[in-house]
Amino acid sequence: MPVPVAQMWTVASYVVKQKLARRKRYPLVLMLEPLFRCNLACAGCGKIQYPAHILKKQLTPEQCFKAVDECGAPMVSIPGGEPLMHPQIKEIVEGLVARKKYVYLCTNALLLKEKIDLFTPSRYLTFSVHMDGQKEHHDFAVCREGGYDIAVEGVKEAVRRGFRVTTNTTLFDGADAKSVRAFFDEMMALGVEGMMLSPGYSYNKAPDQQHFLGKSKTRKLFNKILANRKKSWQFNQSPLFLEYLMGKRHYACTPWGMPTFNIFGWQKPCYLLADGYADTFDELMQSTAWEKYGTESGNPKCANCMVHSGYEASAVDDTFSSIKGLFATIRATMFAGNYADRAALEALEEKSVPASHLGLVQVTVSPTAVQSRQDATRV
Ligand code: SF4
Repeated sequence: MPVPVAQMWTVASYVVKQKLARRKRYPLVLMLEPLFRCNLACAGCGKIQYPAHILKKQLTPEQCFKAVDECGAPMVSIPGGEPLMHPQIKEIVEGLVARKKYVYLCTNALLLKEKIDLFTPSRYLTFSVHMDGQKEHHDFAVCREGGYDIAVEGVKEAVRRGFRVTTNTTLFDGADAKSVRAFFDEMMALGVEGMMLSPGYSYNKAPDQQHFLGKSKTRKLFNKILANRKKSWQFNQSPLFLEYLMGKRHYACTPWGMPTFNIFGWQKPCYLLADGYADTFDELMQSTAWEKYGTESGNPKCANCMVHSGYEASAVDDTFSSIKGLFATIRATMFAGNYADRAALEALEEKSVPASHLGLVQVTVSPTAVQSRQDATRV
């Protein structure tokens, strides 16, 4: 079972309550960014590009709790930055677990073994480890040789101690579908509970702007990867969202489904874009011009976006919006088989560009940015 029944029940009853209350827009997962500092500088990530004085800042536990209470979402994802670098991450996680929120602490796992004693296994806490593929690809994607091995050690230790562990993987143009499938085998063999996938999004702050996927490329890549699926693979995601990535469904973006709170406030409209900030969750919901976002809006910033923070909540909402959606989810979870697709199987044999030839490795960070990061990580 990829997601424990207790968690599924909590989420299902929460969504049904929103539906009964006729709430058109509701949050499902709060994206809580307590800091932007990181011990990596991945080519596809824009967060670490902030100047030093911003990277030095962080949310207090009280600010985190206030945001979580205001928002009311049953799940809280803690990305960043690297949350394990936050000096009060223990207090933050404990406070959220005490509130019975399902917490996904997203980490590159470089510090996981060192910090793991800070945490206690709980059904409410999951380490969501950032793994971008097999060893060679992951190390290039995170621009750190040996990063994969350290992360694997962290995963093994967390699994050994009885923590819930998932992986989260971002895929970019040039990803080798065959290698990604082999990577799934490796992760399941480590004992992770499930895997999460998303296509990369073109952050305008990210150093590498060449390897983000367009929509048709995204669908083709994910269909190659997820068709002819192995039974052993478990995904900690909505099965309808995975079908959406494979091009089998269409969804409109619901950015309010995964609202973001960070040191600047409530980010408009989503985790990826920053078109202003609101002081309160209520203000975010009331003052954001939601109609200006999503693929249908014609907004060029949204044209190629299929990321989980915009579209997974749409898939979950679909599950609970009609009998058809509910049956589609049951079918996808229990009876969809392996999504047999001969063309996708043959496409796996197509030659792909080796990781070492991808532009992702050609990170160019200005000396000033490097100095900023060094200054910031010294605090
Ligand atoms: S389409 Fe993507 S970038 Fe646009 S609002 Fe939705 S999640 Fe954000």
